[in-house]
Amino acid sequence: DGNEILERQARRESNARSYPRRLPLALAEGRGIYLRDTAGQLYIDCLAAAGTLALGHHHPATSNAIQKALADGLPLQTLDLATPLKDRFVSTLFDLLPGTIAGRAKIQFCGTSGADAVEAAIKLAKTATGRQTVVAFSGAYHGMTQGTLSLMGNLAPKQPLGSLLPGVQFLPFPQLKRCPLGLGGEAGIDASLQLLDTLLTDPEAGVVKPAAVIVEAVQGEAGALPAPPRWLRGLRELTRRHGIVLILDEVQAGMGRTGRPFAFEHAGIEPDVIVLSKAIGGGLPLSVLVYDEALDTWQPGAHAGTFRGNQLAMAAGTAVMEILRSEQLDAQAESVGNRLHAALANLDSPLIGEVRGLGLMQGVEIVDPEGEPDALGNRPLDGSRARALQRACLQRGLILEVGGRHSATLRFLPPLIIQAEEMDVVVEQFAEAVA
Ligand code: PMP
Repeated sequence: DGNEILERQARRESNARSYPRRLPLALAEGRGIYLRDTAGQLYIDCLAAAGTLALGHHHPATSNAIQKALADGLPLQTLDLATPLKDRFVSTLFDLLPGTIAGRAKIQFCGTSGADAVEAAIKLAKTATGRQTVVAFSGAYHGMTQGTLSLMGNLAPKQPLGSLLPGVQFLPFPQLKRCPLGLGGEAGIDASLQLLDTLLTDPEAGVVKPAAVIVEAVQGEAGALPAPPRWLRGLRELTRRHGIVLILDEVQAGMGRTGRPFAFEHAGIEPDVIVLSKAIGGGLPLSVLVYDEALDTWQPGAHAGTFRGNQLAMAAGTAVMEILRSEQLDAQAESVGNRLHAALANLDSPLIGEVRGLGLMQGVEIVDPEGEPDALGNRPLDGSRARALQRACLQRGLILEVGGRHSATLRFLPPLIIQAEEMDVVVEQFAEAVA
């Protein structure tokens, strides 16, 4: 029985468990965009394993690829040895890369998680530049290992741990509305770039030149915050001018979710390093780095890991990329995402602050309707109302996650296969919950 399972989970699993506190579900089945719990209740899954399930649950393409790999008796784990399946995975991924990247691309298989690959990206940048430090941004989320926590633009989770990676410099991530510099809009973008330029060029700023700048083109855990394209282009120009490695963390925003295969494509830039995980494994654990061959200064064995050769994940991930291409899922994510964005922005409620996002990575800020607006006209964020709204959605059969500052942003991360009519149901359920 579901309640007993939940009760045992609460008793036996770590106090660090997070999702079950807000989504008390014992899940029994997943099909497409739907999840069913052990009591038979059906939900639309707008969490999709934190954006991992681009094709939803049990898409025939991923299921068949996994079943075929099993039926063919493929070796399941192959370290970094060559296999035909891996060869095809790499070719399919390189074919997806925009601009001139594929012609210079190298790949490093990192293991199982986004954090694994971010760790490797930092090691690579340090090795290639001979420098030690990194620039990251307010609100950033790159994982929960000690190295990646060092890059987290949020103090609370890392404060109890004391010293982590030394020399991480944080800069404000420009937000058009809740600007950390209190400026907003274009002025906030200019100020952020100016700040970085000053830190890099003025010796009296006292900043040692970093190995890398790491950034999400759309900040996910921070609550679906798209980086302004002009700002990303400015970062590209600055990092190139100063010989700093630009790392784009596409773990959540990559693989079509924002309406392009890679979220940095909205800015028309070419990063030096791309970090990929989540959707790249088709629901199975896999993470990779794609980087400019000029950075390939690693010695043999300089980066390793047992689980770099998960053939089932490569089979499923190849299927995801093939469907992304053949069914133009990125274009569909853009049009269904725009439909969602417009419908959310149209909801007339004093609870709703900013609605933002790109494609099928959308967020709705929940604010205190009675709170005093700040200088930019934003009412205070209201995490407790956001969680109440999340519960009200769950009761109506809609799974949404909260995120961002004070957990006050409701996040929409459905599978990319969601159809327009299904999205209309999502909006209907959400509107009822808001009302
Ligand atoms: N980078 C980004 C942008 C992410 O959203 C996440 C996970 N939410 C990570 C890195 C870390 O990935 P993992 O949880 O697989 O370590």
